[in-house]
Amino acid sequence: MDSLFLRNLILDMNKLFSIISFVLIFVTSSYAFQYNKSQKPQINNKPKLVVGIVVDQMRFDYLTRFNSKFGEGGFKRLQNEGFNCKNNHFNYIPTYTGPGHASIYTGTTPNYHGIIANNWFDKFNSKKVYCASDNSVVSVGVENVIDGKRSPHRLLSTTFADENKLFHQGRSKSIGISIKDRGSILSIGHTADAAYWFFGKDEGKWITSSYFMDKLPDWVSEFNNSNKIESYLKEWDTFYPIEKYTESGKDLNNYENTFVSKQNAVFPYDLKKLAPLNGNFDILKNTPYGNSIVADFAIETIKNESLGEDEFTDVLTVSFSSTDYVGHKFGVNSKEIQDTYIRLDKELERFLNFLDRKVGIGNYTLFLTADHGAVDVPQYLRDNKVPAGYSQAKDLKSKLDLFLLKTFGVSTLIKNMSNNQIFINKSSALKEGIDYRNVIQAIVDELINYPSVYRVFSSNQLNEASYNFGVEALVQNGYNQKFSGDVVYVLNPATLSYGKKGSSHGSGFNYDTHVPLLFFGAGIKQGETYEKTVIPDIAPTISSLLGISFPNMATGRPLSEVLK
Ligand code: ZN
Ligand code: ZN
Repeated sequence: MDSLFLRNLILDMNKLFSIISFVLIFVTSSYAFQYNKSQKPQINNKPKLVVGIVVDQMRFDYLTRFNSKFGEGGFKRLQNEGFNCKNNHFNYIPTYTGPGHASIYTGTTPNYHGIIANNWFDKFNSKKVYCASDNSVVSVGVENVIDGKRSPHRLLSTTFADENKLFHQGRSKSIGISIKDRGSILSIGHTADAAYWFFGKDEGKWITSSYFMDKLPDWVSEFNNSNKIESYLKEWDTFYPIEKYTESGKDLNNYENTFVSKQNAVFPYDLKKLAPLNGNFDILKNTPYGNSIVADFAIETIKNESLGEDEFTDVLTVSFSSTDYVGHKFGVNSKEIQDTYIRLDKELERFLNFLDRKVGIGNYTLFLTADHGAVDVPQYLRDNKVPAGYSQAKDLKSKLDLFLLKTFGVSTLIKNMSNNQIFINKSSALKEGIDYRNVIQAIVDELINYPSVYRVFSSNQLNEASYNFGVEALVQNGYNQKFSGDVVYVLNPATLSYGKKGSSHGSGFNYDTHVPLLFFGAGIKQGETYEKTVIPDIAPTISSLLGISFPNMATGRPLSEVLK
């Protein structure tokens, strides 16, 4: 055969193949299209309601330690049907409530969002400030109480609820609820319809501030005037017989605080009798019933504000604070903390069942996490040969003042010491003709010699270097150039500036950083991961699910493995 003929034949065959494959692709794809339209159910991943739950001071291991005591409908249901991020951590220091809630809902860390602690020294006005305090507003629900002078004005970033509100032209609703004002306000953000918190000093009431509204809605007043809250001033005994609580220490031990006028921290607690000497209704905060009140109020909120009823996704943030109060008072290993989690599991089940009925399975997305963990009582750890201890900030300050007097001849060079940060009195240094940068370096060189101190950083170091691993990175993520001090120090593991009984949190070690992260409901895969996730990933994940802008300072990444 001649080669030209062969070439033409091959070309023709190629053409024929192209035509055949084109026809084939067209037929199969149009069939697939038909199939999709007619047979595959329409899955709408966008929820009508997003519920964010924060359990204050919940360590990751509470999920596993108390697992055998949980029912099927609470924590277990979220783990079995939802997505469990088992290696989820805070990625900054300090791990406190204010920064915790702010970081969860803005998707970033204190160096960006500006909530550097619960209380901090405001160097511009030389006074201590509270993360949610605002003198320009007044209380609503009770008259003229300081607990009502609250707003999110110190929070620099938007939250995902803010972005959701903007996206929907204000047609979506966002409401925050917590016993603690900061747990409510710093979660829901600037554009919220409402943030409510609990006022228990005289009477038990849900209140808010004039930042959000001028008058409580009628349904909130009705709730306040019902005897619902008062009904919890009753006996607190263990939910199951106490001998079944084998996952916690002895009820009577040396590591727990108790209530005023109660001899020992042992069950049962007669709350009605104890209330007058323990802050009246405030006593409820320190018991599992504080969480029940929050669950009751969250349910009433969804009913009365018609959350999750239309196509504009609403946001409800619920923070259970009593777990933190109980943890501080009785510690991580107490029977009281175990009972509080067993009872919270029941409340969670009640809340999920309500959401199923009212909003509908598949119509809401929920996540559950914590604002920080907690350390075992340091004295308990010591008694079990685990390195731990106490280092009071005021003792460190006296030692440093003495050192600075010897070195510079001035004893007033430290203006404030708080949250493991030292603020230098720059004007005092200037007056004495001392370069304040020399004072900072002298403190860094001195402080590292103190036995309880593990690391010391100067502001200069944190402004210049860029850390991406370990405790250095956590310090940097919590260090705000504008608001933080001139020296930042880190204490040894399990070392607290605290009393010998009860426990606390605030560090960058695993007992404080490792917390649960469970996603559940519309748009969420069933599964689990041991890959590391961090708290600032939550808000971008929810934003991605909703198809809205990320909070404006977010630094986390959407967890694509979690989303359908
Ligand atoms: Zn907290
Ligand atoms: Zn706390």
